[in-house]
Amino acid sequence: MPSSAFATLPLSPATLANLDALGYAEMTPIQAQSLPVMLKGMDLIAQAKTGSGKTAAFGIALLEPINPRYFGCQALVLCPTRELADQVAKELRRLARSADNIKILTLCGGVSIGPQIGSLEHGAHVIVGTPGRIQEHLKKGSLKLDGLNTLVLDEADRMLDMGFYDAIAEIIGQTPSKRQTLLFSATYPASIKQLSATFMRDPQQVKAEALH
Ligand code: ADP
Ligand code: MG
Repeated sequence: MPSSAFATLPLSPATLANLDALGYAEMTPIQAQSLPVMLKGMDLIAQAKTGSGKTAAFGIALLEPINPRYFGCQALVLCPTRELADQVAKELRRLARSADNIKILTLCGGVSIGPQIGSLEHGAHVIVGTPGRIQEHLKKGSLKLDGLNTLVLDEADRMLDMGFYDAIAEIIGQTPSKRQTLLFSATYPASIKQLSATFMRDPQQVKAEALH
């Protein structure tokens, strides 16, 4: 049986020490299946139920290649709601290598856009947000995605149910074509297949059951 220790992965010593400090002794099943693929830089479709550790899976993968000295957006996580974006940002802040001062910013609707534009002027390495507000920032020119390495579509099935297909397509259109695209979803309906066929490059597919 393959080992589920994080130390079997090509992660930096700082990341491994941080996971240890968080009490993450072993990978969850979805992490064990998805991390080797993601850390090779490949596109991935991961299907797993709520509570299976998907956030840390894509979080570890997107944080590893971040260059702390470049203050442009290197990773973007799109979430269906503000509440989910806040949860993802919280977990990413726990996972970020503490010595590197990686800045993680949330950009969601329902609050005024001015302060968000101010925060963006200071730069952020990772942005977590909802499609509508990210689209607004791209239109205003307050956000640029030309330095993006990793795009994550979290709860992709819910985003499509909420009618975000066009917004997602428009956002992807402003990212470099050589990006890594990671799609996480609880279900795998035809709409997700269409999204991945349009915007992903040779995606590997993994599926896992919930932990409990
Ligand atoms: P999902 O997005 O799949 O619904 P979450 O990413 O929110 O699940 O993770 C659920 C919980 O599991 C979180 O509290 C998270 O901190 C915890 N967790 C994630 N990975 C591990 C791990 N390897 N070991 C222990 N706990 C973990
Ligand atoms: Mg989740």
